[in-house]
Amino acid sequence: MTQRQILEKRLDDLIRDIIKGRDTGSPCITCGKTLTPENITAGHFMKRRHLATRWNTLNVNGQCWKCNGEDDTDLYEEAMIRRYGATITENIKKMARSAVHYTNEDLTTVYHELKRYQEKYA
Ligand SMILES: [Zn+2]
Repeated sequence: MTQRQILEKRLDDLIRDIIKGRDTGSPCITCGKTLTPENITAGHFMKRRHLATRWNTLNVNGQCWKCNGEDDTDLYEEAMIRRYGATITENIKKMARSAVHYTNEDLTTVYHELKRYQEKYA
């Protein structure tokens, strides 16, 4: 793996841990079923290919295996609006479409920000 791939994987692993720590015991964002260590996944609202929101703690939420597998973006959007409101949901969509150019240093900064978030909330 390149340094870049290592940094991205480290962030993917961290956001998954954060969401599982934060959302286990809470309802699946989409269907409302209680999330357990066995059925929880870290489900992205805007897909992982959108770098600007790939490690955003509002864009990634605890979702059961079934809903993550079904990958219904419209249902996820309705759920985002219920949980965070229309304005935040629109902002995440806008952010996802924006072009970001993360340097390796930026990715390291994002990692440390997420670690701080994890200490507080996950
Ligand atoms: Zn579900």
